[in-house]
Amino acid sequence: MEHTMRAEYTEEDPDRVRSWHMVRAGVSTAMCGKVLRADAASRPDGDWGAEPSMMCHTCGALYLREVP
Ligand SMILES: [Zn+2]
Repeated sequence: MEHTMRAEYTEEDPDRVRSWHMVRAGVSTAMCGKVLRADAASRPDGDWGAEPSMMCHTCGALYLREVP
């Protein structure tokens, strides 16, 4: 299954990334259930873990269960 990282933005600054979520291919809702903006930035799932403090913990747990 294909995954993509998508950005969640802060409420104060719509250009500032609050955290990164993991999304399954063709879906706009993060694996943790968070609804993300349609224009949210995306990154390849290989970047997951590059900035641990920015990663959604729920998405991370679910993602690691699907990707060995
Ligand atoms: Zn998430």
